[in-house]
Amino acid sequence: MCGVFGVFNARKAAELTAMGLHAMQHRAIDYAGIASTDGTNLYRERGAGLARKVFDGTVLDRLHGKSALGHIRYPTVNDDPTRDNVQPVRGNWNGVPFAIAHNGNLTNGAELQGLLSDARLSTSLDTEHIVRLLELCRSPKVEDGLCAVLRRVEGSFALGILLPDRLIAVRDPAANRPLSVGRIDDSYFVSSETCAFPMVGAKHLLDVEPGTMVTIDAHGVHTMRYAMPKERKCRFEAIYFSHPSSTVFGERVSQFRLALGRELARCYPVPGGADIVTPIPDSAMFIAKGYAQGSGLEYLPVILRNHYAGRTFIAATQAQRDEEVAQKFIFSAEEIEGKRIVVVDDSIVRGTTMPKIVRMLRQLGAAAVHVRIGCPPIRYSCRYGINTPLRSKLIAASLDAEEIRVKMGADSLEYLPLQVLQSLSAEPKSFCFACMTGEYW
Ligand code: AMP
Repeated sequence: MCGVFGVFNARKAAELTAMGLHAMQHRAIDYAGIASTDGTNLYRERGAGLARKVFDGTVLDRLHGKSALGHIRYPTVNDDPTRDNVQPVRGNWNGVPFAIAHNGNLTNGAELQGLLSDARLSTSLDTEHIVRLLELCRSPKVEDGLCAVLRRVEGSFALGILLPDRLIAVRDPAANRPLSVGRIDDSYFVSSETCAFPMVGAKHLLDVEPGTMVTIDAHGVHTMRYAMPKERKCRFEAIYFSHPSSTVFGERVSQFRLALGRELARCYPVPGGADIVTPIPDSAMFIAKGYAQGSGLEYLPVILRNHYAGRTFIAATQAQRDEEVAQKFIFSAEEIEGKRIVVVDDSIVRGTTMPKIVRMLRQLGAAAVHVRIGCPPIRYSCRYGINTPLRSKLIAASLDAEEIRVKMGADSLEYLPLQVLQSLSAEPKSFCFACMTGEYW
C-alpha cells in the first residue's frame, strides 16, 4: 500500500510534503520520495525507510520550489528489489518535466506494455506505464494527454502529478483508493488521507470524484471528468488501513469502526458473559470500543503496543513475522489473570497474530478468551494495492471459522457477517469487497 501527498504554492513545500508523508506513515514504511519544482526545474530525492529518516535537513534543502509531490511505499505485487522502484517516477512531456506518484495497482500492465512496444522501463512499477504513455502524447494540453492515457488504464489508481506550473490529482473511475484536496489560503494540498491536512495547517476541501482529474494551478482548482464513474471503493480502507482520524469516502473512519464493533456485539455476544473487551492495537481500538458499547462490557486494553516495533505484515518472511508479533505487544499481566476476555481485531489474514495472542493470554491466566473480528473472513488476495498474500497463505481460504478457532485455541471465534458489513455501507454496490467475496472488477 502507498500514500501520496502533494503541495501547491506554499513556502517550504518539500518540508510540508515530508510532514504530510509522516502523518500517513501507517500506510507504508519501506520507501519515501519527494519531487519538487521551482516553476522551471524538477528536483527529486528518495530513499529507503521512514519519511522522517529519508528527509533530514540537508536532503530537504535540495528540494527547491513552492510545489512538491511525495510518496511512501511498501512493495506489493511483483516487486523487483534490483530495480529503482521508489516513487515519484519522473517523465518528460513535450519538453516539460513531470513526476507521478501512484497509490493502487493497475490490472492491465501487459496490455499497457504492449502499447509501449519496445520502450525500456527503468522500474518494475506499473506506474511507469502511465509515465511513458504520457510522454508519447503530443496534445497541446497535458490534461488532454492524460485523459487519453487514463482511458486505457485499468485497475486502481489515485495519482498525484506534478508539473512546473500545476499539481494534478486523479482518481480512477472506481474511486478505489481515497484522494482528497485540502487548502489553507492560496496553498493547496493533495493527500491520500485527510489525517495529513491538520499536520500542515490545511482544511479538507474536497474529495477527488471517481473518474475525475483535479488541476490546481495559479488560477485555482479546475475539475474535469475523464471517465464514467463505476465506484468500487475499497471496503478494507476504513476497516483496517486508514487512520482513525481520517474521513475516507465521506465516512469518518473512527465512527465506522465503532459501528462495526457495535454490530459485532449485537450479532455475537459472548454466551455466558465476559469481563473485559480488549483490542489488538492499534487498528482494532475503535472496533473494540464499539463492541464494549454494544455489549455493555468494560473496555480495558490489556494488550498494549510496543511502539518501537514495526508493523507485522511488512516483514518479509514468516519467521520475521513470528518474531515481530512477539516483539510488538506488551501484556498487562495483572489485568489479565482470572478474567474472561473478549479480544477484538479488525481482520485475520494469514493467521499469524491471533494464535500468539491467545496463547499469551492463557499463559497469563485468562479464564476465557473469546475472539471477535470486525470484518468477514479474508479469503481472496487483493489485486488493487493492498498487500494481502497469495490465496494459499490466507488462513480463511482453506479453513472454516471453527477450524481456525481450534487452531488458535480460543473459546469462541466470530467474524462480522458480510451482509452486516454491507448494510453498514451506504450504497454497498459502490464498494469493493473482493478480498472477502472474490468478486473482482
Ligand atoms: P495475520 O496475523 O496474518 O492474521 O494478520 C492480521 C493482522 O494484521 C491484524 O492484526 C490486522 O490488523 C493486520 N493487517 C491486516 N491486513 C493487513 C495488511 N494488508 N497489511 C498489514 N497489516 C494488516
